[in-house]
Amino acid sequence: MYQLQMLIDGERVASRSGKASIIRNPANQESVAEFSLGSREDAHLALEAAKRAFPIWSEMSSQKRCEILHKASAVVRERSDHIARLLTLEQGKPLKNARMEVMASAGVLDYYAEEGLRNFGQWITSGHSRSIVIKQPIGVAALITPWNFPVDLLAWKVGPALAAGCTLVAKPPSLAPLAATEFIQAVNDSGLPSGAVNVVHGPGSEVGAELVENPISRKIAFTGETETGRWIMAHAAAHIKRISLELGGQSPFIVCRDADLDKAVAASVQRAFSNMGQICISINRLFVAKEIAEEFTAKFVERTRRLKIGDGMEPDVDLGPMFSESQRCKTKEHVDDALKRGAQLLYGGCEPEGESYQKGFFYVPTVLSEVDQSMKVMREETFGPVAPIIRFESLDQAIAMANDSEYGLAAYIFTNDLSTAIYASEHLEAGGIGVNVNNVVDLQAPFGGWKQSGFGRELGHYGLESYLETKHIRIGV
Ligand code: NAD
Repeated sequence: MYQLQMLIDGERVASRSGKASIIRNPANQESVAEFSLGSREDAHLALEAAKRAFPIWSEMSSQKRCEILHKASAVVRERSDHIARLLTLEQGKPLKNARMEVMASAGVLDYYAEEGLRNFGQWITSGHSRSIVIKQPIGVAALITPWNFPVDLLAWKVGPALAAGCTLVAKPPSLAPLAATEFIQAVNDSGLPSGAVNVVHGPGSEVGAELVENPISRKIAFTGETETGRWIMAHAAAHIKRISLELGGQSPFIVCRDADLDKAVAASVQRAFSNMGQICISINRLFVAKEIAEEFTAKFVERTRRLKIGDGMEPDVDLGPMFSESQRCKTKEHVDDALKRGAQLLYGGCEPEGESYQKGFFYVPTVLSEVDQSMKVMREETFGPVAPIIRFESLDQAIAMANDSEYGLAAYIFTNDLSTAIYASEHLEAGGIGVNVNNVVDLQAPFGGWKQSGFGRELGHYGLESYLETKHIRIGV
């Protein structure tokens, strides 16, 4: 069986306690790997290693850091097949999607290799003084990430942290640490000083908590559930740490009467069910103009029916299993709640039939109509493949319903009218608005949430800024 250790101070090491845990494939529950299970002590050792490496890495020229980050990207690309296979085996997503995720992560490293060269300051002339404003790395960063995109979401943090001159300790998700650890190992093998990047595995309540509470870490970059983010925010307060929180979402998708219907259907089916709905910017609530609702719904169900479900290692699979039994139970619970409250089941709402599905956490993508705002599917983050469709009479009504959520990560609208697109974009409460697209992620643009979807921005120059402190130097002349 594949054995995975942690990475501390440039060495692959077992946990101090000697404890280990098993990773199982969500498609068939077979054991995939055994990995070292770290503790608070291991997290502390990793933080100390990152602290020792900080003066070396932060004082290196940005040109040299740029070279190393490009090299890291090249090493990730060389190892991409291995990393992608681990990702499918531990997380369940189809192998083609795992490959795309790993290659995207390499792209993030290339982007920040260059963006690190654009850490510019300011010179301000003011009477008998001159002010110089410089941006310096915050220090040791703790990067805590979830299981749905364990490599890419880590790359979104590793790239800017290293480009800014920070060193880091990564804590991948406890149940999917394999691909993320191999990604960090590839970065480590690209000429970084020992201890500049470290990985510690283990439970969030122990390893994650140490990374948040230990005064060595100066910045916490977190992606995960809103509840965990709340805990981190409260505990990071003890040392007034810099934090960025990318939390839950419950994204609305508005389809106007004048939209290109076929494009809207294709885009929404893909974004509602890809990765089995386990994406923070998944479409979770569909608001469709009443004049086109019947036609849209029929086409949506038809397209959903064509999605192929199976083990992510099989070719041509569109949807793998869900990540865990608890994710599948939560999805079932939300669907049952909607049906009890009067929703109509148009498709799915069950496990697929057949021998090959028996041992995995499979679930048929589900389409609901006759839904209302009282139902869990409309109020809570299901994080599963469920698409509730609701009709609207006016754009203002659709926007009001879309904004009636504690989350504000992404919102989408399909329309061919420019004024409608601008009006909706300005009135929807979310950090990212997609107009006639089903994705608000662009490497060069800021990504992040409003309301309880968090704060702080990743990607683009904003991502780099979140690992920098501002310093004003005033000189008398
Ligand atoms: P989670 O909050 O349970 O875990 C995320 C990470 O935090 C894991 O590594 C976990 O071990 C760690 N953790 C748990 N308790 C901790 C603690 N007390 N202190 C420090 N670390 C702790 O989230 P998850 O179930 O892995 O991921 C799913 C969630 O992530 C969903 O809510 C989803 O919307 C969200 N998400 C958000 C974004 C975004 O960009 N906004 C992206 C992807 C996923």
